[in-house]
Amino acid sequence: MAQAHRLDCEKEAADCRFIIQSENEDEAIELAKNHMRDVHGQDYTNDELRREHMETV
Ligand SMILES: [Zn+2]
Repeated sequence: MAQAHRLDCEKEAADCRFIIQSENEDEAIELAKNHMRDVHGQDYTNDELRREHMETV
């Protein structure tokens, strides 16, 4: 069964209920990166997102 990569933004910012989930890790990271920058004004590198913010479900 394929695993999905997920970023649950509610864990990062209490007032944001945005969830990204994709089986394509590159896509999930790209979406997470755009969301963090556009909505939260925070710039993360792909590595930071992958290691510290994304989970595999
Ligand atoms: Zn958010």
